[in-house]
Amino acid sequence: MITILDFNDVLKRHQKEAPVQTVPIANEIGIDVYKTLEWPNDLSGMIQKSEEYAGESGYAIFVNASHPETRRRFTIAHEISHFVLHRNLIGDGIKDDALYRSGLSSAVEAGANRLAADILMPWRLINSAIDKGIDRIDALAVHFNVSKSAMSIRLGVPYES
Ligand SMILES: [Zn+2]
Repeated sequence: MITILDFNDVLKRHQKEAPVQTVPIANEIGIDVYKTLEWPNDLSGMIQKSEEYAGESGYAIFVNASHPETRRRFTIAHEISHFVLHRNLIGDGIKDDALYRSGLSSAVEAGANRLAADILMPWRLINSAIDKGIDRIDALAVHFNVSKSAMSIRLGVPYES
């Protein structure tokens, strides 16, 4: 069972530069990741115990192939976060809808969203991007391969599209 301290060590090694790659992080903690076709649009992703598909951890992440890459990346980071933060609540698996609601409490979902943001948009890399002159939300979103809304939320500023 990975602790949050162990996970922070994993993260550090995968956060040397933007964009942070989510699948190698999942693989390193024993989770295989699959894109799933023909899912409804309001299903973002799930993490499931699986004998057929799982990595060493016993779990696999499935992500909606029809969603844009930025969204798929956030979904993978969110499901990784469920595994790291509260595997005891996952049981045989959970599914997250388009708003990242899985039936777990909203506090639990908020925790997974916070760690997902920490995975994809570490402050150290944001600050160094800003130092290099990448200081607009849309440019930062491209640099980190996240949605503009995810970057806006991270920076605590409203985004006008
Ligand atoms: Zn969730």
